[in-house]
Amino acid sequence: MPHRTLFTEKDFSLDSGFPTLSFAKEADIWLNGIKGKSITAQLRERKIYKVKVGVPIPADGFLVPEGGRFIVEIFYFDSKTSCLTLGHEIAHTFHFDLQSDPLKSKIPIPRMFEQGKLASWRIIEKFCDDFSRIWVDLNGGTKKVFSFFEKNRRFVFIESKILRS
Ligand SMILES: [Zn+2]
Repeated sequence: MPHRTLFTEKDFSLDSGFPTLSFAKEADIWLNGIKGKSITAQLRERKIYKVKVGVPIPADGFLVPEGGRFIVEIFYFDSKTSCLTLGHEIAHTFHFDLQSDPLKSKIPIPRMFEQGKLASWRIIEKFCDDFSRIWVDLNGGTKKVFSFFEKNRRFVFIESKILRS
């Protein structure tokens, strides 16, 4: 069944787009509260304390739990992809119990090579993509979000500049 999700800045509901995902409502509530908060503050709320860009990983991005906090690793260093990947990885924090230390996912995470085969995981990936578009919109668009990458050297670490060709 195709998902119909609204992702305009004013009117979105991940909860209605993804009724099978228990954490979608929490994501809606969080997104509704980010107005006026810096991206750094938003990431801290989601327990993300470091973003690495240009990391040679076999995916666009990874959310890596490290004890009670996360590192986000991003492959590409270009404005659109990097911003959408960061939003996507923030979305993944919603299926974690943020109070746990070490951080634990509330749903089992399949191995990389299994992920594309599992319908249940594909829904989560779609949720993360939709969340990401809303998140980038709410933060003023790609240009605004990308300035976070360029201006926060204590938070964002550019390992190399892998550009999408
Ligand atoms: Zn994902």
